[in-house]
Amino acid sequence: MTKRTGQCLCGGVTLTAHGDVIEADVCHCSMCRRQGGGGAYFAARFTGGITFETSETLKWYRGSTHGERGFCTDCGASIAWRLQAHPDKVGVSLGALNDTSGIQINSHIFTDNGPDYYTIPTDAPHKTGQQVMTEFMERQQQAENK
Ligand SMILES: [Zn+2]
Ligand SMILES: [Zn+2]
Repeated sequence: MTKRTGQCLCGGVTLTAHGDVIEADVCHCSMCRRQGGGGAYFAARFTGGITFETSETLKWYRGSTHGERGFCTDCGASIAWRLQAHPDKVGVSLGALNDTSGIQINSHIFTDNGPDYYTIPTDAPHKTGQQVMTEFMERQQQAENK
């Protein structure tokens, strides 16, 4: 299985992403921009998940009722994102990965929340916050019906 290693800015948190990319999204919502200092948030989930090698300085912050954001308490780097209901399904920040070769963006999400100060690229489909939430609810229902 393919492995990609990654780390935060100070190197306190180290991780490995296993397998292939399931989905790589760019989120333009105001929370992601606030957390990251103004830019969009790039993250991907992998078929084999993420394992943390060192994580003493990894803290999960509950930014909303459903999601939480992993960051390094020493350097402040954004490391990962996950749903509180699915802590095993971690999306890793693309900026944390040492090698991002071959990773392509599947969609730009919360595009209706994007700011005026940059233009959202058209390299992948755009989804509004409403579209993202509708897809999320549909997937939840499918999972429950299995
Ligand atoms: Zn760090
Ligand atoms: Zn966001």
